[in-house]
Amino acid sequence: MQLIVEFPVDAEQYLSQGLAQNVPPPETCPHCQTRATLEALGYYQRNVTGSKSTVLRLSIRRFRCNACGKTASILPAFAQPYRLIHNCVIHRFFCGQKNGADVMPWRALLRRYWRKFGSWFSRADPVLRKSFGHATQSRSPERWWEDAGTSRCGRDSARLVVTKT
Ligand SMILES: [Zn+2]
Repeated sequence: MQLIVEFPVDAEQYLSQGLAQNVPPPETCPHCQTRATLEALGYYQRNVTGSKSTVLRLSIRRFRCNACGKTASILPAFAQPYRLIHNCVIHRFFCGQKNGADVMPWRALLRRYWRKFGSWFSRADPVLRKSFGHATQSRSPERWWEDAGTSRCGRDSARLVVTKT
C-alpha cells in the first residue's frame, strides 16, 4: 500500500538531503490499524522528473507491520503514483500552461495523462466532487480542473489515493 505524505521539499531536495532514510513509520498500520507495529523494511526505487527536464531516481521507504505482515510505502506528495512526471508540472499542464520550460519536454506524456484523466473522469467525478466539495456540477475534465482552483496534484492525490502495491 502506498501512503502519500507531504514533505516540505521538492524532489531534488528530497534526494540531496537523503530524506528517504529519515522517513518515520506511520503510527498506525494502514492495513490492520494496529499502533506502533511498523518497522523499516527497506526501499524501492522509482523515477520522477526534476527541474531542467532531468529524471531523478528516488528511494521510497517501505515498512512492514509486525502484526499483519503487510507492507506500506511512503510516497512523497510531489510524485504521482505510477507516473513519471512531477506533480507541479502535471498541475501546470492541466491548468493550460503548456509552453513552460519544464512542461515542453514532457508534453507528449502529459497529453497522455490528460487523456487518461478525461477517460477516467466520468467514473471519478462523483468521488471528486464529494472529496473536494466543489459546489459546481463539473461536466467535463476541463471544468473540474478549473473548479479545483488552487488545489495541487500531490495534496489532492493524498486525499484520494491509497494504492495497494
Ligand atoms: Zn498491520
